Amino acid sequence: MGRKPKKQMTQFNKKVPKTDDKQFKSKTHKVITRLRGMRDILPDEYKYWNLVLKKAESIIKYYGFQKTEIPILEQLSLFERSTGKQTEVVSKEMFTFVDKDGDKVALRPEATPGLARSYIEHGLFNLPTQPVKLYWIGNLFRREKPQSGRQRQFSQIDLEVYGEANPATDAQLILIGYLILKEAGVDSHIQINSIGDKEDRDEYIKKLLEYFRNRKIRALLSPEDKKRLQKNPLRILDSKEEGTQKALEGAPQIIDNISDECRDHFMKVLEYLDEFDIPYTLNPNLVRGLDYYNRTVFEFWPEDSETGRQNALGGGGRYDGLVEYMGGRPTPAAGFALGVERIILKMKDNNIPVVNEEVDIFIAQLGEAAKRKAMIFFEELRAKGYKASQNFVKDNLKAQLEVANKLGVKLALILGQKEIMDNTILIRDMESGMQEVYSFNKVFEELDKRLK
Ligand code: AMP
Repeated sequence: MGRKPKKQMTQFNKKVPKTDDKQFKSKTHKVITRLRGMRDILPDEYKYWNLVLKKAESIIKYYGFQKTEIPILEQLSLFERSTGKQTEVVSKEMFTFVDKDGDKVALRPEATPGLARSYIEHGLFNLPTQPVKLYWIGNLFRREKPQSGRQRQFSQIDLEVYGEANPATDAQLILIGYLILKEAGVDSHIQINSIGDKEDRDEYIKKLLEYFRNRKIRALLSPEDKKRLQKNPLRILDSKEEGTQKALEGAPQIIDNISDECRDHFMKVLEYLDEFDIPYTLNPNLVRGLDYYNRTVFEFWPEDSETGRQNALGGGGRYDGLVEYMGGRPTPAAGFALGVERIILKMKDNNIPVVNEEVDIFIAQLGEAAKRKAMIFFEELRAKGYKASQNFVKDNLKAQLEVANKLGVKLALILGQKEIMDNTILIRDMESGMQEVYSFNKVFEELDKRLK
């Protein structure tokens, strides 16, 4: 006797179903899921984003870069011309469509083409301060096979310098990338190479093709790499295929085939890196796969990475010919990008702590009159610039203080019936648990003292 029927209990205790809860099936509506490889960023994840972007932007601004934005959608021809029609990104990975006006458009798969277009279109070479140092943070889209650290929608922090050929620029860009990663708690190791200027590369490609004329060597290549050899021979160099790696063992190296001018430039970059004490490895097979690069190319690999490229945290290089090739005046340029999701994956691996949005004060209340006063007081705190929080829908004081605890606030301000009658307020130090009564008129004075 006295026991409630079992059926009713389970009904009552039933968990609120989430949309991804497999047990919950709407009888009328199928759940629409996100597209493959696209991502949501939930609030818990956003704490990492806030941390990375805050640290990154403070470093980037220190080095004089200015924030800029470009469209998500551009003309397809922009990427075909700049990134290169034969590159994997353009030939295989872009989201493209013909819009209702018949224009061929593409979701941006990388930022540099859009930034270079913007630089030319707005005549930024006329700005009084040169070189032009831009930074951009945003989403990119590549139709790749989704896996850990590889999505179809991802974000980059991108830095570009237009109008400066000095090797100090290359070194400083590498330093900035390295510092951003370090500040996020991720140790990196730079892989660096020089691929010379276009003439050097054309000559080198001839030598490489000559080398692969040897049938025995060519036979080691995978079918995919055989195709690459025809379409974009440099891409052979950073192939992950074991056979290709073996085939490359006796191949001519690009670094031995660059002009004296390019070599001097590269030596200077390395000397600056030595000065900055940045760990780097000369990687003769690093080419970076996009058409516009020349001279310095580099990638940021996780310190503990064996597999390298596969999970590179970022990469970049020089692209002195790009602006001219896109119809602008000859303009030396260099830049790099870091992948935000990959940085965050590493931060999680490294157990980097993230804090909640900083809140100093929690207002707790007990009773209807106190709630009303607390609500108005909360608005006053906001207007005066305090970082406060509340939970006015909870009436239980203990429950409210638990919320305050979770938020990690320094102080809880408590208003109850007694405090309303006496025109006072209780201030509780959440760390020590000590609480004292103050006249309500003195509350701001006391907060300023304690929050200093
Ligand atoms: P890339 O210009 O292709 O070298 O990309 C620069 C950086 O962006 C990479 O090192 C990654 O950190 C990141 N990245 C590139 N493609 C993806 C992707 N599909 N998903 C997540 N991050 C990516």
